[in-house]
Amino acid sequence: PDPKTFAAGPKSIAAFQTACQLMPGGVNSPARAFGAVGGTPLFIDRAEGPYLHDIDGRRFIDYIGSWGPMILGHRPPEVIEAISKALERGTSFGAPTEAESRLAQQIIDAVPSVEKVRLVNSGTEATMSAIRVARGATGRHKVIKFEGNYHGHVDSLLVAAGSAAATLGVPDSPGVTPGASQDTIVLTYNDHEGVSNVFAEHPGEIAAVILEPVVGNMGCVAPTAEFLKTLRETTQRDGAVLIFDEVMTGFRLALGGAQEYYGVTPDMTTLGKIVGGGMPLGAYGGRAEIMNQVLPAGKVFQAGTLSGNPVAVAAGSATLERLAKQPPYELLESLGQRLAEGLDAAATRHGVDHVVQRVGSMMTLFFHHGPVSSWNEASQCDRERFSRYFWGMIGEGVYMPCSQFEALFFGVTHTEAMIDETIAAADKVLGRLQS
Ligand code: PMP
Repeated sequence: PDPKTFAAGPKSIAAFQTACQLMPGGVNSPARAFGAVGGTPLFIDRAEGPYLHDIDGRRFIDYIGSWGPMILGHRPPEVIEAISKALERGTSFGAPTEAESRLAQQIIDAVPSVEKVRLVNSGTEATMSAIRVARGATGRHKVIKFEGNYHGHVDSLLVAAGSAAATLGVPDSPGVTPGASQDTIVLTYNDHEGVSNVFAEHPGEIAAVILEPVVGNMGCVAPTAEFLKTLRETTQRDGAVLIFDEVMTGFRLALGGAQEYYGVTPDMTTLGKIVGGGMPLGAYGGRAEIMNQVLPAGKVFQAGTLSGNPVAVAAGSATLERLAKQPPYELLESLGQRLAEGLDAAATRHGVDHVVQRVGSMMTLFFHHGPVSSWNEASQCDRERFSRYFWGMIGEGVYMPCSQFEALFFGVTHTEAMIDETIAAADKVLGRLQS
């Protein structure tokens, strides 16, 4: 079927035409423009729990969750209340507050590698700063990253990046100078020998290794045990800083993120998304000895006018408090199992080449024959088929990530009945794909 059959409603189409006159591509971040699947993005009016409502008055079960933050669903009462209370006192002071220490303590209590933390405004700021601190602390230049891993739009990391960069086929962006990326070494995810070889070739030269400990940005790809073990051992032996980019996985796979889930503790961790409870907030932290290099304790410069913003801190703090008091991880695991099994069975029933990959509440249905463990495999997926699946699901009232190279997310307000509704929708759509 023609994807246009399921296209956005007339109000979204008109709104997108207006937006395209005003903002590049009509959006403020490329992934949401539906570029990978063609067509017009849905313009959102409001959201509640697991549902998104577009401006054409249609309702969708939301499996993007603002690309990760909404683990408690949209508008969780305790978070909305915390934001309202914060608003009564002011929206920004540019001066320290006790609420920042409270959130810092919550992060330190939850995330094994974090002894000290700094709050920033986005995941990009977190990774950019962590790389600078790792270089400053070690006095070394080189950074290892992995193909298909996305760490925000940091110049030195925008090389072979996943997410929208992969989707749009711009692994190297114009405007990133050779100078900015010349110290970045790109390796294959899950290739532990590649890591050992590079450390053998460049002893004492590598400042940091940064990775998504479970990848979301080339679709959901789990690390092998051997890979994580090699990373931890080689960095430790060489004196390089191991950075887990837990912007997606932090507070999602476990309260302590992927490092708790896999029992591997890095030297530094970057956080975003859930840590801000749906407000713009990121964080980076790690061993005290490393974090004490940051100004004004140390000499590595990093700053932010709105960093530690009281409204964002209130939202993040209320979210982490709820996750610590009522851990949702068993519930999310069982919902995830149900959804993964259902999607897998539906695709198998209709003879669609596929693999479902999942860790907790992160999941991707890849249109790929056999498992996906690296970018090379992810990039061989049938993206045309994905696009028809995506638009088919929109037609059924299910809002999935609009790219094969993104993980879907769900949260505590998704019910078993909604999961079953989603599986039934996928069954219909996958059936039509073969025609
Ligand atoms: N790291 C990872 C693993 C991410 O998934 C993202 C965003 N999707 C970022 C960093 C960048 O975060 P932000 O978009 O908040 O700058």
